[in-house]
Amino acid sequence: MQKTLILLKPDAVQKSLVGEILSRFERKGLKIIGLKMIQLDDAVIGEHYDFLADKPFFPSIVSYMKSSPIVALALEGHEVVKVVRQLCGATNPADALPGTIRGDFAKSIDNNIIHSSDSEETAAKELARFFKAGELHSYERTLID
Ligand code: GDP
Repeated sequence: MQKTLILLKPDAVQKSLVGEILSRFERKGLKIIGLKMIQLDDAVIGEHYDFLADKPFFPSIVSYMKSSPIVALALEGHEVVKVVRQLCGATNPADALPGTIRGDFAKSIDNNIIHSSDSEETAAKELARFFKAGELHSYERTLID
């Protein structure tokens, strides 16, 4: 089954949106296979956003991503990369549709609440970046239905 990596960025934590966002993924039926709070440092932020390192706004991304702990989440499900990107909405909250996480809660492109992997290949790299092997879980949901 496909897996993806989600980061609930500092504004999600500071605005007390962690439960609301987790609930949206759970209501969609996606399976939580990893979850933890982390304080990011320059090294991991630099690695995660290396493709933006030459952008003028890169220093503001680093200071934003360090401004409080974040929540890292690993989800599993059918076409979960695409499903989660749809639930998150467009990168720029001004373009994000109402009903999406960014459309409902994000203020601006530099405070856009959430990250999710953009492909299965990226997801594999990003899951390895934020979770050690023993922190991702494989289990059956036997207590439902
Ligand atoms: P994503 O996959 O939807 O998060 O979008 P991208 O991979 O294109 O960009 C990564 C992140 O960089 C975005 O989520 C924003 O937090 C940030 N970002 C992108 N473009 C801008 C910009 O023009 N200004 C600022 N301040 N941040 C940006």
